[in-house]
Amino acid sequence: MKHIPERTCVACRRKRPQPDFVRLSKVAGVWTVQVGGRVGRGAYVCADNPACWQEKKLRRAFGAAAQKVAEQLAQPRAAQPQLTPDQPKTIMTT
Ligand SMILES: [Zn+2]
Repeated sequence: MKHIPERTCVACRRKRPQPDFVRLSKVAGVWTVQVGGRVGRGAYVCADNPACWQEKKLRRAFGAAAQKVAEQLAQPRAAQPQLTPDQPKTIMTT
């Protein structure tokens, strides 16, 4: 079984496998949503949880840049992590 690295969301502090996150990188002093590649210092925010994209939740991690980060997260992303699994959700039957 392949090990999936875990990361911690800077907004909700939840630990999740890396593919569940949007990665932000500080490039030339500006936090930018990173699509592919790895540049600079990274921070991770839940890709599927709009509650984690709120400026007030990002402020702890990004400080004055939180507003810009929140704006970027609110925008549709070209290459989103795969959020829909190949298999349908298992329905619990009793
Ligand atoms: Zn989160």
